[in-house]
Amino acid sequence: MKFSRLAEYFSKIEKESSRLVITETLAELFKKLSEEEVDKAIYLLTGRLGPLYDPRELGLAEKSVISSTIQALSVDRSIFVKRFKEVGDLGEVLQEFKEKGRQQLLWAPKDPEIIEVYEDLVKLSKAEGEGAMSFKINLLSSLIQALDPLSCKYLVRIVLGKLRLGFSDMTILDALSWFLKGDKSLRPIFEKAYHVYPDLGKIAYLAKKGDLKAIERIKPEVFTPIIMMRAERLSSAKEIVEKLGECIIEPKYDGFRLQVHYKNGQVKLFSRNLEDVTFMYPDIVEGVKKEITVKEAIFEGEAIGFDPHSGSFLPFQETVQRKRKYDIEKMVKELPLKLFAFELLLFKGESYLEKPFIERRRKLEKLFKLTGDIFKDTVLLAPEIITSDPEEIELYFEDAVSKGLEGIMAKRKEGVYKPGVREWNWIKYKRSYSSKLEDTIDCLVMGYDLGKGKRAGFGIGAFLVGVYDNKSDKFVTVAKIGTGLTDEEWREMKKRCDQFKTKTKPALYDVDKNMKVDVWVKPAIVVEILADEITRSPVHTAGRKLKPSKTGAALEVDVPGFALRFPRLVRFRDDKRPEEVTTVVEIREMYRKVKGKSKKEKL
Ligand code: ATP
Repeated sequence: MKFSRLAEYFSKIEKESSRLVITETLAELFKKLSEEEVDKAIYLLTGRLGPLYDPRELGLAEKSVISSTIQALSVDRSIFVKRFKEVGDLGEVLQEFKEKGRQQLLWAPKDPEIIEVYEDLVKLSKAEGEGAMSFKINLLSSLIQALDPLSCKYLVRIVLGKLRLGFSDMTILDALSWFLKGDKSLRPIFEKAYHVYPDLGKIAYLAKKGDLKAIERIKPEVFTPIIMMRAERLSSAKEIVEKLGECIIEPKYDGFRLQVHYKNGQVKLFSRNLEDVTFMYPDIVEGVKKEITVKEAIFEGEAIGFDPHSGSFLPFQETVQRKRKYDIEKMVKELPLKLFAFELLLFKGESYLEKPFIERRRKLEKLFKLTGDIFKDTVLLAPEIITSDPEEIELYFEDAVSKGLEGIMAKRKEGVYKPGVREWNWIKYKRSYSSKLEDTIDCLVMGYDLGKGKRAGFGIGAFLVGVYDNKSDKFVTVAKIGTGLTDEEWREMKKRCDQFKTKTKPALYDVDKNMKVDVWVKPAIVVEILADEITRSPVHTAGRKLKPSKTGAALEVDVPGFALRFPRLVRFRDDKRPEEVTTVVEIREMYRKVKGKSKKEKL
């Protein structure tokens, strides 16, 4: 298929506001693509060259893209830049200039195939060292010459790392099911495979071959991250024992989670959002190499900053300073990390996902030759106790909190590891904040209002946040936040939002007309929000149910939605993907617990 055809699909999807139509459009596209093309087209649709964990980045600066454009179209730089400043979207301006050029018949586009464009983009991402910049500018320039105006618009958004067509990975999985079966019924099979092997390209390739058996058989592989399992929450030791009986209790470290992949001396580290972050943590890589005793393994742990002078752990705000792309060696010295291992997913080539936790944990202990000395080792085992005594758990919890940790994790002895799923096999019990809610809520930033008064200077006065409804694959609102941010946080929020602003409401957003915003933001920014309480509100769509009105003219609110009372920003969660924000089901559960409502009540 020609890239120009694919660009037409980009355009159709971008304009579409119905998720169902997007799914059907994608399914139709999959039908038309060949086996060789389908993976590449999917990566390009998601604005990348490979799956999420593929470290190849395009991310060219606007300046370089402008240079390529000027070179390709022989236009005056100042005129082009002026127009760009007016419009704000390089893709659109390039499309406009290219259209003008076409009228003058200056260029006859070559109309390359998807595979040709993809291969050029791979070359672009690989270029490094001396002369790399001019190589990239030349290559992009010839692509701009070869492609038609609409294709140029999307090409530029891809190389800038700004293509967000407004569907989720789940939409693609649904579309694959539509493609094979004409309905959503195969989604559970695709989803299960995706959680163990989150490469949409590979899954689509197998689907295209019609090899459903191979999709069902997908197993974890070293160097392909597994989507991480997540924990449920409770707020007392008594409830934990009621739920799990005798269980394994570990401290809950407040750092960041890493999934470690090891094979024959090579180490790769993946973050929660599946990014390959190996280069950021050379101290952990060294620690793993030194300590590991087998040829092949996948395990998980929490990395946390440690102060060797005081012998204490650092708060999250300090640990997180290690997440950086520059000055890595300097930071290794200033802020050494410890990795507390707590899970084993693959051991000597065998998947451990289906084994009971107690077995995984015992094997994990055999994985390293550890001295258990926090001053000597970088990798340590998370300590544990096994108990069914609520008092002992409560004491362990108090002790963890007094050491500056977040609380405890309780784990079901027989529980399996369920990739990508929030499960009662793991329960977190965190020190409570001053609010009535026992946990913070991760939300997606969906849009913002321009500021008035003092805020006018920031250009942002409030932002709309939502949670994820995984049944409908939509984001639904819970709050509009207009207070509680420092000046610096407002500026940061505006900056981040403007990277992803879009003229129309994304198709995955379900928003009441009273909650409309001045500027919509594509699904990209995740924030952790602390609120005093969850209340009900007819203008928020999380968990809201509608019914036909008596006159039959329109729908009216049957059950109001969930809303956050006194929400405030805790931090940006760059380690989470949009679909990983808190779900409506969790919000409902939190509401039910605080209010003590019975399960039968209409929620
Ligand atoms: P989630 O969506 O997984 O709940 P979160 O980061 O908001 O994400 P947390 O409240 O921090 O959730 O609880 C789960 C996280 O706790 C894990 O993802 C992991 O990073 C961290 N953690 C710390 N110590 C442990 C431990 N001993 N066992 C498992 N996870 C731990």
